[in-house]
Amino acid sequence: MSDSAAEVDFELDLTFNPEAPEELHELGRRYWQVDGINAYTNSIEWVYKTADLDYQLWSGSAHYAAAAAVVAASSTFACRTCGGVLTLASRQTLTDARRGQAKDCRACDRVIEVRAAAVLDPKSLAKREQRAEKKRIDDEFRAQKAAEDEARRELTTALEEKRRAAIRARYPGEIERDGGYAMSRASLVAKVGALAAIHAAGKPGGLIHPIRLNDQTLAPNYRTSEDLFLAAWRAGLVLVHPSSATDAFEWDDGDEAALGDGLHVDRARFAAPGEGPLGPRLAAHTEYLRGALRIEHLSSTDRRELELLSRALVAEEAIRYFRYLIRDHSLPDPAEEHEARLRSHAQKIQVKSARGPRVEGISWPLGTKSQGPSRGPQEFFVMVAIPHDLTMPARSFIVPRIHVAAAAWIEHMNWLTEPGIPQGQRNAAVDRARVAMPTFAAYEDRWDLLLDEQESAPVLLPPAYRTLALDPRVGLPPEHEWRHTLPSW
Ligand SMILES: [Zn+2]
Repeated sequence: MSDSAAEVDFELDLTFNPEAPEELHELGRRYWQVDGINAYTNSIEWVYKTADLDYQLWSGSAHYAAAAAVVAASSTFACRTCGGVLTLASRQTLTDARRGQAKDCRACDRVIEVRAAAVLDPKSLAKREQRAEKKRIDDEFRAQKAAEDEARRELTTALEEKRRAAIRARYPGEIERDGGYAMSRASLVAKVGALAAIHAAGKPGGLIHPIRLNDQTLAPNYRTSEDLFLAAWRAGLVLVHPSSATDAFEWDDGDEAALGDGLHVDRARFAAPGEGPLGPRLAAHTEYLRGALRIEHLSSTDRRELELLSRALVAEEAIRYFRYLIRDHSLPDPAEEHEARLRSHAQKIQVKSARGPRVEGISWPLGTKSQGPSRGPQEFFVMVAIPHDLTMPARSFIVPRIHVAAAAWIEHMNWLTEPGIPQGQRNAAVDRARVAMPTFAAYEDRWDLLLDEQESAPVLLPPAYRTLALDPRVGLPPEHEWRHTLPSW
């Protein structure tokens, strides 16, 4: 009896049906086994829940099976119809009687007698035996299947272990420090690729994954992403790490525990070359790569290559954005010649990048060269703002050169000649001009401007700049295009 149960307050006598088999007697005994009365709810507590009784073989309901096995009678209560001792159709009958409800005995109820008789009917017995046989076969089948699954799991585990060993043997995940040899031999593309992979997929723990070539996290398109990453990997600037999943590798057709040659870079994990803990190793490698890519450390060949690469990346980014716009407007795919034109325009772009703790606070130095007259209708600048936190995306502002020149002049001259500032306090020459990010805010991601000549581009500078351009205190640079006609904006 459980702690909360009190003594029962009713009689209960069981008379077993001699025609029922012993298993059914046992079921009847369990069905009627009382634990006590719950002291809090005053309801009967049963030792077995009906759901735990094995009655399904006998009947659809536990109380019919129990009624076939045994007659339960409570002399505490009387039948409302015949006035005799109350024989119980079910646990519910007893519960109701305890609550003071008038109930019929089994003989007066009738339904329960018919159902109980059906349980012991030879026809239903035969059916039950069939069901029992089927259940035995099902159980056997299930047990066999479970054993097979287990065996298969063991085989898989064994194969998995062999494969892991093969991976560890080929990709130990560390190499002796080479004193900078790999870095000195690596191409510029390999170094940029390694740095791009670290920025896109480097984890604080020091692993680099997943490398996705088709979602523009590394480069604007699949081919450029692939070129960059494979160059980095082949140059030894990233290593396959042995914690990579086994399905990241191709396996030999003949020996499924032997490594093939292929690798799924999106499923593999990479690490920085070298030895020791991965986190510090990646941090040091990243710094090393950044150092190796500093302009003053690049050979003239590498500088030329970097310029070509950045132009190619800008061109591909412009095309990616162009395609996105076209799709966004449900227009047909752009014709090849459109893409070719865009690519050739984009190749002429000048890229200016600047870094800062917050993108909104970044400004770009724009010397006199940037402020001079344009040399052609397709001259554009891409101003790139790179936050110090390299997990944040860089942002791009596509600005026609004419607008850049005007903005640089206006921003600088307005600052230089601001009323109320004592003479001589501000004296930086206009070649030291800088333009702050908010001035170009409306040009963000306007890659579509590259499709047309810069003269056709809408002016997206702050409206106040137009007033300043007309103010003799500020004005426009000498020989600027807008000195003839100032567009409205
Ligand atoms: Zn009765």
